[in-house]
Amino acid sequence: MRVRVDGKQCQGHGVCYMTSPDVFAPDEEDGHAHVLVDEVGSDLEQAAKEGAEACPERAITVE
Ligand code: SF4
Repeated sequence: MRVRVDGKQCQGHGVCYMTSPDVFAPDEEDGHAHVLVDEVGSDLEQAAKEGAEACPERAITVE
């Protein structure tokens, strides 16, 4: 599973990394999110989905 954050859609609310800090983290400058892992293993799949669903901007894609 791969997870991507669309940098144009992300508004830096921070819900994703508050919900799933093992998968998402804030950029230090503006609080926009980035993904911590290239390939999401089965142990983090649920956390990745929960973070994506929590994003109010629908900026996170799970593939
Ligand atoms: S919840 Fe969505 S808008 Fe907010 S930081 Fe995460 S990706 Fe960006």
